[in-house]
Amino acid sequence: MTWLEMITRAYEGYANYLVKELGNPMNNGGSYFYLLILVSLFAWCLEIMVPWRKEQSIFRKDFFLDAFYMFFNFFLFNLIIFVALSSVSEHFFQGLMAKIGLPRKGVFDISFLPLWGQFIIYFLLADFIQWSVHVMLHRNRWLWKVHQVHHSVVEMGFAAHLRYHWMENVVYKTALYLVLSWFLNFKLEYTFLMHAFTILIGHLNHTNVRLDYGPLKYVLNNPKMHIWHHAKKLPAEHPYGMNFGITLSIWDYLFRTNYIPYDGRDIPLGFEEIEKYPKSFWRQLIEPFKKSR
Ligand SMILES: [Zn+2]
Ligand SMILES: [Zn+2]
Repeated sequence: MTWLEMITRAYEGYANYLVKELGNPMNNGGSYFYLLILVSLFAWCLEIMVPWRKEQSIFRKDFFLDAFYMFFNFFLFNLIIFVALSSVSEHFFQGLMAKIGLPRKGVFDISFLPLWGQFIIYFLLADFIQWSVHVMLHRNRWLWKVHQVHHSVVEMGFAAHLRYHWMENVVYKTALYLVLSWFLNFKLEYTFLMHAFTILIGHLNHTNVRLDYGPLKYVLNNPKMHIWHHAKKLPAEHPYGMNFGITLSIWDYLFRTNYIPYDGRDIPLGFEEIEKYPKSFWRQLIEPFKKSR
């Protein structure tokens, strides 16, 4: 297959999938499009009915910017670049592995395990990989510039969940691909139910609602914990940040990067000199590629 054929085929597949998905919400067990709308409406209802910061407007600062980010990252980015990029780079990567004498896929094969076992390992591992990548996004100077988009939120609300630079997609998905698909040969795709759960928790983490799920806070990331991740001023003991959890909070408790000194309802959010950070979508998009001042 030529490169062009490969890209065309990937787009055809994705376009077919999109048409099916929009036309039939229960296609493949569920539609991501309707899921995102449903979860967003649910989180927004919580913000309206039981707000944590009562004076915060229901159309908070950057609400529409974040709503745009949400659909850009979830759909447009996939439609425009990611489908082509990932199928071509997977092909290229597998060819490279074969050349240097390594397996094209599946260094370890764990498909002999029962499905529920694979499911649990997949979920834990995927979450841990994402936690590790998130730590790296804070520790590496260039990656931090990419991740700053997410931290440029100054008024927290549910839609901030998917406000991030598209490069994050590339970094996270490459790490997930390398470990889960190439190394462990997981055939199990992120199933719809699992994905729905992670989107729900991710949305809630950013929702303006006073929630920590009681004793489950040691397992699940939550709004009262994640608000501290966005703190403008970092404590001396966590110079690179804290509370890096994505869906689970266990990794932060395990690696002692947890930090909730008091109720973080009104703490200032962002980073130093956030006043100088670009405010528009396109300027934020090119910011990481600009030379440091
Ligand atoms: Zn972060
Ligand atoms: Zn966040």
